Amino acid sequence: MARPRVAIAELSHETNAFARTRVDLAFAERCGIVRGAEVIVRHRDTATVIAGFIDAAQEAALELVPLLAVWITPAGPVTRTAYETLVGEVVHGLQAAAPIDGVLLSLHGAMVAEHALDADGELLRRVRSAVGPQVPVVAVLDLHANVSPLMVEQADVLIGYHTYPHLDQRARGQQAARLLARLLRREIRPTVSLVKPPMLPTSQCMTTDRPPMRVLLDRAQQLESDPRVLDVTIAGGFPPADVPEAGLSALVTTDDDPVLAQQLAEELAALAWELRYGFLGGVATWEEAAEAIRSIRRGPLVLVDIADNPWSGGPGDSVELLRFLLREGVRPAALALVRDPDVVNYCFAAGTGATVEVLLGGKTDDLHGPPLQVRGIVRLLSDGRYVNAGPMLAGVTVDLGRTVVLRVDGIDVLVTERAESPIDLNVFRAHGIEPTEQRVVALKGKGHFRAAFEPIAERIVLVEGPGITGSDLSRLPFRNIRRPIWPLDPL
Ligand SMILES: [Zn+2]
Repeated sequence: MARPRVAIAELSHETNAFARTRVDLAFAERCGIVRGAEVIVRHRDTATVIAGFIDAAQEAALELVPLLAVWITPAGPVTRTAYETLVGEVVHGLQAAAPIDGVLLSLHGAMVAEHALDADGELLRRVRSAVGPQVPVVAVLDLHANVSPLMVEQADVLIGYHTYPHLDQRARGQQAARLLARLLRREIRPTVSLVKPPMLPTSQCMTTDRPPMRVLLDRAQQLESDPRVLDVTIAGGFPPADVPEAGLSALVTTDDDPVLAQQLAEELAALAWELRYGFLGGVATWEEAAEAIRSIRRGPLVLVDIADNPWSGGPGDSVELLRFLLREGVRPAALALVRDPDVVNYCFAAGTGATVEVLLGGKTDDLHGPPLQVRGIVRLLSDGRYVNAGPMLAGVTVDLGRTVVLRVDGIDVLVTERAESPIDLNVFRAHGIEPTEQRVVALKGKGHFRAAFEPIAERIVLVEGPGITGSDLSRLPFRNIRRPIWPLDPL
């Protein structure tokens, strides 16, 4: 028997509706779109969803037809042209490759386009209409997906990551491809139920190694041990997408048992609601952070500004962490990162060893604090490319664009052309900085940094400067979320 032909594609973007930078085609291209056979070459043996598709395809003797893959750095909405071009490429790829027996997709689930609030649902709708109702479509979503009824309706199975930091991307890719293989053999008949309690948690308390998510996932795991249950996903959601479906989702897939799926999804949604206050807090004041720094023993203290997190759509150019470290006289310290292409240009022209005076950061908008005048020494110039050591996204190449290590009063600041979240120790080591030798390692992030930095940290302190990715949702001028919703409204 011929091997089933399974198309694979990744089009992943987490959209922050309040971010100024739009995702046009040039932005998407800069994030590294790969096509055809290159999709396999680039992802094989990495900690990614597509690597999981590849693993399970080998095991189940599926022939993969790779179409396109791009993980677009979180930013503002995707332009109409970029969306139509990229989604069009996937759809045309499916038509050109016909006949196709199945489709595997790696999506985020919180993508918004200028003309489609539920951009992932719309993508799935188009994929479905390209392949017809009989061809199984299985998609993997991020744990921060805002899962919608349209997504559920258009796909046969949706599986969300079960971990945050997202360490199980490859495992979820494998699971998705195995379920697709079972669908192709007609061994299962997935029935899916989605229940969304009226809650909009932010993600600084959403990491899955502690309550409330740990409690929810323990229960999910218990339920998954029932052979009638194919998958249980708790997606925490991504509030700044500002869409009606923003918020937490309980998504249960059973084998031909819609009543059980509904019952279990309702149970989990009720449990999430009961645990909702556990999603609040977790952020220190700047005074508390200063106190924590004064009591460091060996270091490093890992200090994280959650309000300018590039992987939640923050511009990455806030200098509030640097302002704070300079004021507190902390050294040695290292900071990743401040995106400022003008300063990068200037430092490249000045050369290694030069002393420069620059106005750093705070230039994208007026939501992330003002720039900071600094005098520093250009310690190192690089192309900003390094390979993650892991555990999260191990083996994946990161591209910060041209990067400068600027030393300002004993603080090594990574100044970059592009904004990515510093989640890997190699962000420093690739630039000649040893994170374990710092008193303070300052990062912009939310939860992913924990996978690599928690093991080296004496202590972790989250703070919040001005910005669009913080824990205080009342800062954001929402227009499209459903109301009333916790914690914004009395419920
Ligand atoms: Zn995520």
